[in-house]
Amino acid sequence: MKPFDLFVTNGTIVTAHGEYRGSIAVAEGRVAAIVAPGVDLPAMRTIDATGRHILPGLWHVHCHFREPGHTYKEDFESGSRAAAAGGIAFCIDMTNNTPHPTTLETFEMKKEAIAPKAHVDYAIYGGGLYPKTCLDLGKAGAIGIKIFNTRHVKEVYPYITELGVVDHGILYELYEAIAETGLVGSVHHDDTEWCKRLTFRDYINPGKVENKYYMECYERGYMYGHGMVAGLASSLYYARLTKLRLHVLHLGVMPVGAYEMLRHAKFDLKQDVSAELEAASLFMSQEQAERVGPFAYLWAHSAEAGWNSLRDGVADMLVGEHAPHSVEDVEPGWEDNFSVPLGITGAQEFVPLMLNAVNEGRMTLQDVARFCALQPAQRFGLYPRKGALELGADADITIVDLKRETVFRKEDMHSRAGHTSWEGMKVRGMPVFTIVRGQVVMDEGRIVGEPGLGRFTPGILARDDGPAPNVERLHQAEVVAQAASQQAAGGPALE
Ligand SMILES: [Zn+2]
Repeated sequence: MKPFDLFVTNGTIVTAHGEYRGSIAVAEGRVAAIVAPGVDLPAMRTIDATGRHILPGLWHVHCHFREPGHTYKEDFESGSRAAAAGGIAFCIDMTNNTPHPTTLETFEMKKEAIAPKAHVDYAIYGGGLYPKTCLDLGKAGAIGIKIFNTRHVKEVYPYITELGVVDHGILYELYEAIAETGLVGSVHHDDTEWCKRLTFRDYINPGKVENKYYMECYERGYMYGHGMVAGLASSLYYARLTKLRLHVLHLGVMPVGAYEMLRHAKFDLKQDVSAELEAASLFMSQEQAERVGPFAYLWAHSAEAGWNSLRDGVADMLVGEHAPHSVEDVEPGWEDNFSVPLGITGAQEFVPLMLNAVNEGRMTLQDVARFCALQPAQRFGLYPRKGALELGADADITIVDLKRETVFRKEDMHSRAGHTSWEGMKVRGMPVFTIVRGQVVMDEGRIVGEPGLGRFTPGILARDDGPAPNVERLHQAEVVAQAASQQAAGGPALE
């Protein structure tokens, strides 16, 4: 019997449903055995997790790593390195690239460009623009189809203007096409004309454009507000007619009307709809937003509605949104915030922010395992291969230390953006190891994995479970683990 490749010992193993003390042995990149604390197994490398928590590899399902096309803001290497440093073992990347991955050709181009750069496993969305390409994108491995049912009020994101689907006829045709593939259709909703008209009337035309007015405009629900709820209303109806598996983006910044509609759709109408909530919106204080101005994350219109949605099942997953722009792109926002993109970072800060909330008693580690691993993996069709620490699953593991503290500083960020929305904020609770298929990528804060270690993970239409595991070896591993457990318990060893 070869030794195990990795043995993570004596930590508290956290699942979506409970916690227990134990150790995890890895062979062939998979979870090969889970044993009681104190049981010793031979391994090439042992990580002592005493006093720490062992979580399933955490997901970040809303990354904009800007490649191809806008790599001066971020590329797949720097973005996925930030994620790995932040305890993220799996990323889903968005579509506002140049060229955008809306056709088979551009989708394949993107796959090829990013493959050598990823530090963690990843999936990518296909861009929803042409109904007739959705099936091709799914067959080529898209995890879902992303639709921007929105445009910026001043069109300052050119690549979102190109991707914007604000014509409801085309939106409906896209829903028909995506529904036929069985993939999830993930939508950023809005009512762009409504949003533009009121924002221009009360802010841009009278010259009230500084950061403080932008915040006021957001607070009043003109931008990223009621228009999003109105967009959601029609989208839910079209999704119901077409039987689209709708996934609602940006719940965390939407006013309470969105939560009410989703509750009705999910629980009264039994519609196949899921939603992701920006955890970051729950953690961004007004004080922090004022401190970093145009670099701020948008705080929740209703934090209470956000927290409740985690308890009542309206929200299915938590995200940090990572949408980096360079300092030069965003800095002019102090003077005119309507003419610059929002400078949002989150890949590296997301897990520490959640651990801080765990320490504050606002959520539990089980919530983190549920909303950032199990439920995303289930929704996007990758469970049980990923999303939970179960026998035979990919050995994606995030180890966290709830006692470790840090203060977010731009100097410590791996993102190329050169800033953090959380500058100066102190948090308690840090990821200390990121492990992808048994390979250690981040070790006590240091990146030790090479770019290219992360693997492209196709969605349900092109499902590929990767190289087959050595089943015999996994089976042997189980036998060895059982024998060691018996011995540790003082019972007879298995023959
Ligand atoms: Zn986004």
